[in-house]
Amino acid sequence: MKRIRKLDSLLADKIAAGEVVERPASIVKELVENAIDAFASVIRVEADEGGISLVRVMDDGLGIVREDRETAFERHATSKIQSDRDLFRIRSLGFRGEALPSIASVSELQMTTTAAGEDGETLLYRDGILMERKPAAPRRGTDISVQKLFHRTPARLKHLKSVLTEAGHISDVINRMALAHPEIRFDLYHNGKKQFSSPGDGRLLNVMRHVYGPRTAAAMKEFHAQNADFEIRGCAALPEHARAGRSYMTVIMNGRFVKSPIVTRAILDGYQSLLPIGRYPIICIHITLNPSLIDVNVHPSKLEVRLSKEPELSTFIKEEIRKLWSEARLIPEMKQKP
Ligand code: ADP
Ligand code: MG
Repeated sequence: MKRIRKLDSLLADKIAAGEVVERPASIVKELVENAIDAFASVIRVEADEGGISLVRVMDDGLGIVREDRETAFERHATSKIQSDRDLFRIRSLGFRGEALPSIASVSELQMTTTAAGEDGETLLYRDGILMERKPAAPRRGTDISVQKLFHRTPARLKHLKSVLTEAGHISDVINRMALAHPEIRFDLYHNGKKQFSSPGDGRLLNVMRHVYGPRTAAAMKEFHAQNADFEIRGCAALPEHARAGRSYMTVIMNGRFVKSPIVTRAILDGYQSLLPIGRYPIICIHITLNPSLIDVNVHPSKLEVRLSKEPELSTFIKEEIRKLWSEARLIPEMKQKP
């Protein structure tokens, strides 16, 4: 056996990149999450050839101050948490400090950023190594371009699917981000052509209209309810607009898109017998809860969460959805059991 040695940081970044950067859409997700965490109000995403030749995310957020720009590309470097106590009250989308070093380690990355009261600056990274820092015209926020993705790992590059498939994944990410953040305006361009735009007026129904079309949006009912632990808010389509897959059910917890079988089940139970067998509703539900009730640190993708008070949340959602349809006289009003 050889002696045990610590990996150098660049190699560690490349290994971590395997988890963080699966495909161009994962880069879009990470960069957009950073833009949201920087309080952007307009986020513009450009992708060329399914994001394989270019992913670019521009925001009008806080920018990164001069002294922090290189630190941002170091592993486990984050401005979002400081102590282990912070882990149990996470309000930001990021906190692992892995995205920028991981993405930079498998691509050519250019970042131009301007923080309040500072000049603009461009940093160029190639395969994780800083090549250049140069002054740039000040422009509020941050603009990151990622090119030559996986050019040093041909096996990974080959693993990517067609341009159409990769572009589809990017669209999915942006749709979810827009549904999660109706207060932010999103614009998505693919090969220079506008693919999607959300108004950013704070109304979920208006995002639904842009994602699913005006006819579906016209068949939506909005709901809102709150108890001591949870606030739920959303739009649900009438049962006759049900679709063949579960992918039209969007669950957002504290501004984060998550996969939650428990919430999905509760929604379906709320629709009761109104859905034909094998059909699922078009719905987007925002759940706001105290961050201490939710553990997002389950997997690097942060798609899975663990909840305390699961049964309570489940019952609350089910009852609210059921009420929606009984008010619409689709389900006969039932007497509450004592
Ligand atoms: P994390 O988001 O988990 O903190 P990242 O590697 O994604 O880790 O980003 C590292 C740090 O760089 C962030 O904590 C943040 O301070 C800064 N940063 C990254 N992207 C942006 C952005 N678009 N605007 C402002 N700051 C950013
Ligand atoms: Mg991040």
